[in-house]
Amino acid sequence: MPIYKAPLRDQQFVMHELLGAVEQLRAMPRYREIDADTVNQVVEEAGRFASEVLLPINRQGDEQGCAYDAKERTVRTPDGFAAAFDAFRDAGWQGLTADEEYGGQALPQLLQVAMDEMRCATNQSWTMYSGLTLGAYECIAHHGSAEQKALYLPKLVSAQWTGTMCLTEPHCGTDLGLLRTKATPQADGSYRITGNKIFISAGEHDMAENIIHLVLARLPDAPSGTRGISLFIVPKFLPEGKGADARVGARNTAYCGGIEHKMGIHGNSTCQMVFEDAGGWLIGEPNKGLNAMFVMMNSARLGVGVQGLGLNEAAYQNAAAYARDRLQGRALNASKAPEGAADPIILHADVRRMLLTARAYAEGGRAFAYWIALMADQQLHHPDEEQRKFGADMMALMTPIVKAFLTDNGFLRASECLQVFGGHGYIREWGMEQLVRDARINMIYEGTNTIQSLDLLGRKVLMDNGAKLRKFGALVQAFVAEHGTSAAMSEFVTPLADLGDKVQKLTMEIGMKALANQDEAGAAAVDYLRVVGHLVFAFFWARMAQVALARREADGDRVEPFYRAKLATARFYFQRLLPETAYHIRAARSGGKSLQEFATDWF
Ligand SMILES: Cc1cc2nc3c(=O)[nH]c(=O)nc-3n(C[C@H](O)[C@H](O)[C@H](O)COP(=O)(O)OP(=O)(O)OC[C@H]3O[C@@H](n4cnc5c(N)ncnc54)[C@H](O)[C@@H]3O)c2cc1C
Repeated sequence: MPIYKAPLRDQQFVMHELLGAVEQLRAMPRYREIDADTVNQVVEEAGRFASEVLLPINRQGDEQGCAYDAKERTVRTPDGFAAAFDAFRDAGWQGLTADEEYGGQALPQLLQVAMDEMRCATNQSWTMYSGLTLGAYECIAHHGSAEQKALYLPKLVSAQWTGTMCLTEPHCGTDLGLLRTKATPQADGSYRITGNKIFISAGEHDMAENIIHLVLARLPDAPSGTRGISLFIVPKFLPEGKGADARVGARNTAYCGGIEHKMGIHGNSTCQMVFEDAGGWLIGEPNKGLNAMFVMMNSARLGVGVQGLGLNEAAYQNAAAYARDRLQGRALNASKAPEGAADPIILHADVRRMLLTARAYAEGGRAFAYWIALMADQQLHHPDEEQRKFGADMMALMTPIVKAFLTDNGFLRASECLQVFGGHGYIREWGMEQLVRDARINMIYEGTNTIQSLDLLGRKVLMDNGAKLRKFGALVQAFVAEHGTSAAMSEFVTPLADLGDKVQKLTMEIGMKALANQDEAGAAAVDYLRVVGHLVFAFFWARMAQVALARREADGDRVEPFYRAKLATARFYFQRLLPETAYHIRAARSGGKSLQEFATDWF
């Protein structure tokens, strides 16, 4: 059985020592009352819920999967899922960050991200049901009418009702401009929705009394392509009554026509949804549905990045525990356990490399994701307009990086941690193969990681002439200027500054080439995201090293081993992982010719 221990010490380090989160949050009127005790207590409780409620049902969720009843067109989730959702609902976790007027607790996004990391580490499939509900809440809160907010938000906040996002159709995945689902206006102001959606996560289940589908569809006179897409609320059961007193009424004609049998996340129902003239209501303006849906998609992209982080951490913890116990061969230098038949594999250099790689990506990812959570609040709630703009720019720039970099790392680290188990990782007993299978989807949904890289390079960097990237670069430069003269910091600051320069040059070079030929951006994008992802990680690893060094200086020999481990991991990151950028810079600079000169009919 896989193990999991909430990484509370590291979470506290990131929140308090690295980011000074409480101080930053208290600058925002919404969080004026927040304090470190509250933050720590919530994270501890969330960790307990993850370890004690979600972890024990993760394995059976994978083995049982969801079951579809074709007669009733319903889905039964694995044993224990509904009970865990009841416990989650009763404890009020769904409303952690939601507005108080809808029954939420109005706590910072930081706590949501910390909770999600632990929930995904212990049960990604289960966590998706509430993750989509949070996305639906955010979308309706931003774009819904006053009436829609009053009706739906309290139910979503209490998790009495759950949410979905219905974009994908059989012929239309990445390219939403191809979408065909139709919306026909009715005399009473509502719409009839007709069409087929596929791959709809949490589209049908037995964990809540109603499911609120947010559906992209076309109005009769809509322009073609993405300019003609509108967004609709389509409930499974039509609500009766108004506001918070609403109850579920008649069954709407929005059904699950079947579920997918897939590689991982078996406990989450992936549904084919059939809308047969189903009653729906427009959210936001006609033909502006994609804009409205972007609120949900951006929230989901951050959530998916955090899924990658959670699985990375879970894989690391299990591999480290196994490597301490498993005895094979002798350490090359000197046996540490001469009395035994063999040494633990944790002494072998390559096993240590695999473990340290997973640890460095997990801790770097945590620092990055928690900082982004602060930016998410800053963009909405900071009293200073410039700070709000800074938060919004960082969110825009970093969303594709969080999504793609953390999920690539999550899958690759899960696979490498499975390797630590040798053949025992490949069999089911230890749970490692489930982590690998579950982690694979994160690189695909919510816009494949290729699409994230195109978004980063095209929309977020080149289209705004690198302005947002320069804002992040200014943070890096300020750190380099402050610590560049410290001898102890030079092993971190020098490569950070060097990478910053290289990213600048690479961006200009690709930008110039792309002006002449857009294929050049397409050819460079995936490598480019990997390089910028490392710039972000190098920045946070250098900052973490600086905090650890300061503690070592203050505490001398009595310094807590945690800080020594942090420094050692920082060194490993800079010496063994950051050099990956040399390869990606070279590949990105090589341009698109080698991809294009191969004729399509030679494949
Ligand atoms: C388990 C699961 C759950 C899902 N949950 C949901 C959900 O809740 N709601 C929902 O609406 N959808 C959901 N999806 C759908 C998911 O978002 C899509 O599968 C994903 O966006 C990719 O679309 P596609 O599968 O049609 O692939 P395609 O769009 O056909 O892409 C195929 C390949 O081509 C590449 N490609 C496509 N266009 C370009 C381009 N312009 N440039 C470069 N490369 C390109 C892609 O990167 C990919 O590698 C889910 C999918 C799965 C498998």
